[in-house]
Amino acid sequence: MTDVTSYDVVNPTTEQVLTTVPMARVAETDAAVARAQQAFASWRAVSPADRGRLLRRFAEQVDDHVEELAQLEVRNAGHTIGNARWEAGNVRDVLTYYSAAPERLFGRQIPVAGGIDITFHEPLGVVGAIVPWNFPMPIAAWAFAPALAAGNTVVLKPAELTPLTALRLAELALEAGLPPDVFTVLPGAGPVVGQRLVEHPDVRKIVFTGSTRVGKAVMAGCAEQVKRVTLELGGKSANLVFADADLQQAAATAPYAVFDNAGQDCCARSRILVERSAYDEFLSKLEPAITGMRVLDPTDESSEMGPLISARQKETVTGFLDEVDVAFAGSTPGGDGFWVPPSVVTTEDAGARIWREEVFGPVVAVMPFDDEEHAVALANDTEYGLSGSIYTRDLGRGLRVARAVESGNLSVNSHSAVRYWTPFGGYKQSGLGRELGPDAPMAFTEEKNVFIAH
Ligand code: NDP
Repeated sequence: MTDVTSYDVVNPTTEQVLTTVPMARVAETDAAVARAQQAFASWRAVSPADRGRLLRRFAEQVDDHVEELAQLEVRNAGHTIGNARWEAGNVRDVLTYYSAAPERLFGRQIPVAGGIDITFHEPLGVVGAIVPWNFPMPIAAWAFAPALAAGNTVVLKPAELTPLTALRLAELALEAGLPPDVFTVLPGAGPVVGQRLVEHPDVRKIVFTGSTRVGKAVMAGCAEQVKRVTLELGGKSANLVFADADLQQAAATAPYAVFDNAGQDCCARSRILVERSAYDEFLSKLEPAITGMRVLDPTDESSEMGPLISARQKETVTGFLDEVDVAFAGSTPGGDGFWVPPSVVTTEDAGARIWREEVFGPVVAVMPFDDEEHAVALANDTEYGLSGSIYTRDLGRGLRVARAVESGNLSVNSHSAVRYWTPFGGYKQSGLGRELGPDAPMAFTEEKNVFIAH
C-alpha cells in the first residue's frame, strides 16, 4: 500500500479512467504538515476582518466555478448534475457563512473578586480533515471552512475515489488570495496519509467522516495524544409514517429520502416504519413513486439518480440484495456504469442484516409497527442515530416522537437536507461532536481563561 504512487480515477458512469492522480505517502504528508504548521503562525495573526474577507473571496471564486466543479463531480462521482450544482453551491454558502465567524469568535467576561476574568477562543494549529467519497465537496467544506475561519490551517485528505473537486478547491483558494499552505489538499491512501495525520504530533485535531469501523480506529489513534476529534459516521435512519399522515405525500417523498445520491448518504432514511393500519395503502402508493424514479445518465438534466461510486460498492449492495426478496424496484439504463435499481424490501425481522446494517446503496427496508411506543422502540433499536423523519398530522405526536428518537437530526413532515446554519451530527455510533451551525468554529478552538488582578 505504501508503495502506491498514483491512482487511476474512474468515471462511475462510463467505467473509464478519467485521470491519474499522484498519491502522497508518509514523507509528503509530514512535509505538508510542516508547511501548514509554518503557515499557522501568520494565518492566526491575520486580522479577523481580513480573514473574513479572504474567505468571502474564496466563496466568490467557488461561485464563479460552480458549473465547472459540478461537471467535475458528475464525472468523478456519478452525481446527478442537479445534485452536483447544489453541492458546489453549498461550498460557496458554507464559506460565506463562516466568513462572518472570525469577527464573532467571542469570549466571555466572568465576574470574579480582585480582578477581571476573560476567556479567549484560540485556534488549535494544524487540522487534519479526512473525508469520504459520497459528498466530496460539501463534507470537505463543512470541515475546512469553520476550521480556517477560527484561524487554523488545514491539511485535507480526500477519498482515493474522489480527489478531483477537492484539488480544484485548493487551487481556487490560492486564486482567492489565501496564503500558500493555509489549505492543502493531499490525495493518498487512508491507511497511509489518513493514518499519518492521526498520528502526527503537530496535527492538533482530526475531523473525520466515513465508516464507523474506520472512525473507531481514528478515535483510538487520536486517544494516544488526546487529540481533538470530530466524527461523522454511518447511519440507519428511520422514516416513521403514522396512519394519520398525508400518505400520498409521505409515499411520494420517501424515495428521495433514501435514494438521493443512489443511497450513498449517511442520512439516508433506509428504514421505513409504517403504522400497520396504513401499511398496505402506503406500499401501494410507494410503488409508483419508486418505479417512476428517473434513474438516468447523471449528465441528463432530468436524472434523479445516477450509478454507485465503484464496482466494489455495487458488489457490496448486490450482496445485501442477494439475501432478500425485493418487493418492487425501479429501473436502470443498463450498459456501462455501476448501476443498481432503487429497490424496496419488506420485512418483519428486526434482526435481518438488511434492517440492521448500513447498505449505502439504493435499498430501503419497510416494516409495519403497531403504535407510537412500538415505532419509537423499533426506530431506536440500532447502534446508529444520525437522522430520521416523522410523518403525522398530529404535531404534538410529531414533536413527542422527534424528542424520543435517539438521533441528531430529525424532521417532521419533511426529509430536510442538512442545513449549513444548523448543527449536524450523530447520536450513539453515528458520531461524536457536531459540525455546521453557528458553533462549528468553536470546535476548532481551545477556550483559554485569563485572570488579571486589579
Ligand atoms: P472509509 O471509512 O474507509 O473511508 C473514509 C475516509 O477515511 C477515506 O478518505 C479513507 O481513505 C479514509 N481512511 C481509510 N482508512 C483509514 C485509516 N486507517 N486511517 C485514516 N483514514 C482512513 O469508508 P469507505 O470508503 O471504505 O466506505 C465503506 C463504507 O463506509 C460504506 O459502504 C458506507 O457504509 C460507509 N461510509 C459512510 C459514510 C458516511 O458519510 N457515513 C461515508 C463513506 C462511507 P481511502 O479513500 O483511501 O480509503
